[in-house]
Amino acid sequence: MAELLKIGAHLSRSGGFGEVVFKAKDMGLNCLQIFGSSPRQWQVKYPSEKEAKEFRESRKKAGIREVYLHAAYLVNLASPEKEVFDKSVRNLAAHLKIAEELGADGLIFHIGSGKELPKSEAIKRVAEGARLVLSEVPGETRLILENSAGGGQKLGSFPEEIAEIVRAIGSQRVAVCFDTAHALEAGLVLDYSENSVKNLIGRWEESIGWNKTPVIHANDSKTAPDSHRDQHENIGAGFIGPSGFKKLVAEPLLRDKAWILEVPGFDGNGPDRKNVELLQQCFT
Ligand SMILES: [Zn+2]
Repeated sequence: MAELLKIGAHLSRSGGFGEVVFKAKDMGLNCLQIFGSSPRQWQVKYPSEKEAKEFRESRKKAGIREVYLHAAYLVNLASPEKEVFDKSVRNLAAHLKIAEELGADGLIFHIGSGKELPKSEAIKRVAEGARLVLSEVPGETRLILENSAGGGQKLGSFPEEIAEIVRAIGSQRVAVCFDTAHALEAGLVLDYSENSVKNLIGRWEESIGWNKTPVIHANDSKTAPDSHRDQHENIGAGFIGPSGFKKLVAEPLLRDKAWILEVPGFDGNGPDRKNVELLQQCFT
């Protein structure tokens, strides 16, 4: 049944919008994640019409089923500073517009940190910001909140809090991404044993719902459970291990998700064929 699985990776598109699609295909992937513009700059560079067309056509040819964009790291919709909030809304809206132009299925972003703000206030800001972004960019592409590794007042470590934010935004275009490493680092799970996975699946289903979660970031964790330190590791080489991934992928509710690798790679150059194979092996 391996051909039905949706496996992707975050790849660099430094070779161009067409090349990255075929790179994904060559790696045996049928899903893909890229940055729409630089993740470390407020300034946004839109793809030309030609580049966007090239991307959409290559995607069709290569049989890439789902495409996700990852937003810039600077974005913080929960920020107590008005300037950062405004810049975040503008930047996220620009990335969402690029996602629309590329025909991507969603734009995944980190929810952010309210710093000294009470959580309820921070959540209100995120909801307001997300509503502004969605109203600025009408369309189909989904705006996707990612669970965080916690620490530093970061929002969204726990599914109940993410569900509260999703409710506060109140749009059908909002969805959620589950990052396997972040969940462990946040202490949402302390291991991926059979019991922990069952509890996690149930808790996520009750609060957010797996039907609202189209994508999983499949990363092992270099840092310990509950460390609140976000550091990805190659599949099987971290605190989750091969057995942890096997338990996760065995879950019927998770099987049809897009599993996207954001791992460092065995040569340090990002997701590679070996990681794809290691993840695929977990499904068999
Ligand atoms: Zn992630």
